[in-house]
Amino acid sequence: MAETHDLIVIGAGPGGYVAAIRAAQLGLKVACVELAKGLGGTCLRVGCIPSKALLESSERYAAARLGLAEHGITVEGVSFDLAAMMKRKDKIVSILSKGVDGLFKKNGVTRYLGRARIVAAGQVVVEGDSPVELAAKHVIIATGSHSADLPGVELDGDRVGTSTEALAYTAVPDHLVVIGAGFIGLELGSVWARLGAKVTVLEYLDRILPGMDSELAAEALKIFAKQGLEFRLGSRVTGARAKGKGAVVEVDGAEPIACDRVLLAVGRTANTDGLGLDQVGVRLNERQQIVVDQHYATTVPGIHAVGDVIGGPMLAHKAEEEGVACVERLVTGYGHVNYDALPGICYTHPEIASVGRTEEQLTADGVPYRKGAFPFLANGRARSLGETDGRIKVLAHGETDRLLGVHIIGPRAGDLIAEAAAAIEFGASSEDLARCFHAHPTLSEALKEAALAVDERAIHV
Ligand SMILES: Cc1cc2nc3c(=O)[nH]c(=O)nc-3n(C[C@H](O)[C@H](O)[C@H](O)COP(=O)(O)OP(=O)(O)OC[C@H]3O[C@@H](n4cnc5c(N)ncnc54)[C@H](O)[C@@H]3O)c2cc1C
Repeated sequence: MAETHDLIVIGAGPGGYVAAIRAAQLGLKVACVELAKGLGGTCLRVGCIPSKALLESSERYAAARLGLAEHGITVEGVSFDLAAMMKRKDKIVSILSKGVDGLFKKNGVTRYLGRARIVAAGQVVVEGDSPVELAAKHVIIATGSHSADLPGVELDGDRVGTSTEALAYTAVPDHLVVIGAGFIGLELGSVWARLGAKVTVLEYLDRILPGMDSELAAEALKIFAKQGLEFRLGSRVTGARAKGKGAVVEVDGAEPIACDRVLLAVGRTANTDGLGLDQVGVRLNERQQIVVDQHYATTVPGIHAVGDVIGGPMLAHKAEEEGVACVERLVTGYGHVNYDALPGICYTHPEIASVGRTEEQLTADGVPYRKGAFPFLANGRARSLGETDGRIKVLAHGETDRLLGVHIIGPRAGDLIAEAAAAIEFGASSEDLARCFHAHPTLSEALKEAALAVDERAIHV
């Protein structure tokens, strides 16, 4: 006999667990199936949270070693304990994961441990030691993604691995080769470079951070190179494998690179295998992502999908908003996500953050725009922090002045972008931003100045 619910959510990452909680708040009887013991998905277990924990620890180490002298502070004998750093990271993950467990209990979401397979619309089997059959009117697939493969790269879960391994190295590699200069490669490359590894980043394109504003990406490249990361752009990796106690990476037209660890970070692939999607008729696109309409409905009535498993940027907050919108639409008839206001952040030092469209996109779409920029060099707070690298760029519609995009490289860019995301969400103009109070002295004044600069009215530059 199947156990009956109103909604079955498959996957307890940010898309799935948030959808499950919101559905329970709206009065549905909810089951959430997750194959991993810990809740929270990629983001919490092996993604956003552990990477930020290590970024923070390694940044503090680097600051203590190199960043305090200009403040007149002398620190001697700075060292670190990698095992303690890892323990701290694991503790943060464990606390947050248990927190999701607690939220499930508080909201009455029933958790099932095992691998879910859809056998028909509204029918799910949880495979495991003691299989369970579940039935519900609605199913939401939120199974996320895994690190993408690259032909010729032989992952061995040790010397040649993905971000999951790079979040748990037991020793600092002498030489780490990172394949792919996207967010994940640059964040984890930065962690290990700060801790003393030689880091070589191989990127197929002639730029880093594909998809981000190219001017800011070029500035980031210079800053990271100054920090000691070695970049080889236009490098096509043809193979990588463990060799002896290390590894070797083959690059088209270049000498093979001997190193001791390889991190493959060339993107992520949707988790659609083994879910029974073929049998029930859920359509996938050519990238193996689930095809959905604007309300996250798949090609099978009653089955929905959100998060990394569908198209779009693979970001935790995107997955969360989709989970909420999907459930609210099912229960109330309304639910919407404004992708124009979706921020993306690379948590390097300095951080790089972006919301809305880039100049390249606006040019390609033939949208008239005006831009204003302001350097952190001219911001009093950035000066006092000793963090003057970078700038803010504001893009506004050439005729209406409506904000179209904001791109930031600089101190706390990830926090500063929130104001820009809210402004875009509310349909603000650059003048609206420029006329708002921004407390002095704060980094946020740089955003006001960049907005003023759209109209050539910046005061401090
Ligand atoms: C190293 C790294 C750093 C990242 N940093 C950031 C960041 O700073 N900010 C950000 O926004 N994003 C970041 N991301 C991306 C972010 O982790 C994902 O976008 C987010 O986790 C997607 O959420 P999701 O719910 O769609 O899927 P996931 O978080 O992947 O969760 C899916 C869950 O489904 C489970 N599952 C899969 N198949 C089944 C099945 N058949 N049955 C039962 N359960 C199943 C999986 O075990 C998993 O727990 C990072 C990713 C990585 C790898």
